[in-house]
Amino acid sequence: MPTPNDPGDPPALAGGAVGPSQLRPLIDTVLGALAQGATARGGPIPAGGPRSVADRLRAQAAPVLPANGTGAQDALRTLVRAVTEGSADPAEPYCAAHLHCPPLALAVAADLAASALNPSMDSWDQAPAATALEVETTAAFAALVYPDLPQPDCLVTTGGSESNQLGLLLARERARACGAPAVHIVCGDNAHHSVHRAAWLLGLPEPHTLPTHDGTLHPATVDRALAELHGPALVVATAGTTDTGAIDPLPGIAEVTTAHDAELHIDASYGGSLLFSRHHRDLLNGLQSATSVGIDLHKLGWQPIAAGLLAVPDTTALRPLATNADYLNAHDDVEAGFPDLLGRSLRTTRRPDILKIAVTLRALGRDGMAQLVENVCQQAQRLADLIEAHPDLTLYARPTITTVLFRPSGATDTELAATRRALVTSGTAVLGRTHAAGRLWLKATLLNPTTEPTDFTALLDLVARTARDTRTSRPPSNSQQPSTGQDPPGGNASRTGQ
Ligand SMILES: *Cc1c(COP(=O)(O)O)cnc(C)c1O
Repeated sequence: MPTPNDPGDPPALAGGAVGPSQLRPLIDTVLGALAQGATARGGPIPAGGPRSVADRLRAQAAPVLPANGTGAQDALRTLVRAVTEGSADPAEPYCAAHLHCPPLALAVAADLAASALNPSMDSWDQAPAATALEVETTAAFAALVYPDLPQPDCLVTTGGSESNQLGLLLARERARACGAPAVHIVCGDNAHHSVHRAAWLLGLPEPHTLPTHDGTLHPATVDRALAELHGPALVVATAGTTDTGAIDPLPGIAEVTTAHDAELHIDASYGGSLLFSRHHRDLLNGLQSATSVGIDLHKLGWQPIAAGLLAVPDTTALRPLATNADYLNAHDDVEAGFPDLLGRSLRTTRRPDILKIAVTLRALGRDGMAQLVENVCQQAQRLADLIEAHPDLTLYARPTITTVLFRPSGATDTELAATRRALVTSGTAVLGRTHAAGRLWLKATLLNPTTEPTDFTALLDLVARTARDTRTSRPPSNSQQPSTGQDPPGGNASRTGQ
């Protein structure tokens, strides 16, 4: 049997009955390299900043296209180790900047099988059982979003951006079917940037972007905007904004949307998984009124990227996506009962992302998912408690989901930005930044269900200490800000746009 090791050997394949035995020694090498790389990094992100990471990677990875290959074992050992050592690892408790979740080991194991089998979800003859699994799993998910409807449906997407794009596309096609030239998109200024890109891509007019004074879109604001529009309109509400984790008042928005005969797309990329939890599900009341709902399981769902879903209240809503390519869904094949998958995505070749999702849902069940969700939501409340009690830190607001905004008391926006960069480039902590209420805040997005409460105490002390150091090391001259950085805490709403 060929060994998958030496450069001159015939290539070993992952599939078939012998595939697993070819894979095993390679996987062992990968696992070893993952462990070594994480140990070498010794923290949430490599120290040194972009230049140093790129220099080190370049040295480790060269030559990237050698005339004679180095063999599987060497390539895996070298590059997996190098990338691991240079990774921002959300499994580390101090890596909490973005909606960047630590994937569950079982989901990663399932994803390995998806890669080995390589089903492509654009025709049944490339993915017979994966097709059936996608049908079963998306049906269960659609029922979670629309429990009272007879025929809800759900597509697998690459994430919130694609789900938003499809939500807008389906609305545009419904408008066209009624003879309207376009559909007005109405969203808050808290909506994800992909909504604007989708409108641009789809040739729709620039979205009507409404102000959200407290970070959520108010029904009265939507009501006034819809009253001035003529023709079909799609309101985009957000359940879990990327910046603050806020949830728009969905029942109120649904009500005014219906009153104006408009449609509603809910971007629940972040907040959608609250549906699993009996304690938190009510935050998503109103979801059932939406004409489409996007949910990302690579955020609050602990899946490796990508794992997006778009749910619709009735399967007929997806008809505009239908298309024909004779080599994939010939009419006679479809008539003979072969599933037609081409209309379930804008992509053609498509990974079976459903496998890791289905494995996770079966392994954890609804209650297990709920426990993970409740755990991180509780962590966010505890972190907020600690910030409120901290002498040197100011909390923005109590968290809605798992996003906590705070700032070193008295720091200017420039100092806050420098503090964040100092933490990231020293490799000690990865926090995000966001503008809210007219100023800049540090953002912790908690998605790691294994983080212990004590981890936060040390993190907050580290932030406060770094902010102090940043301030005292600030060069006194040529600063853009003549004041000594003594903004009143929670005050100066006029400082924006750093
Ligand atoms: C993350 C996010 C998106 C984009 O999702 P991707 O998976 O990155 O494409 C859209 N909307 C919201 C509210 C998000 O949090």
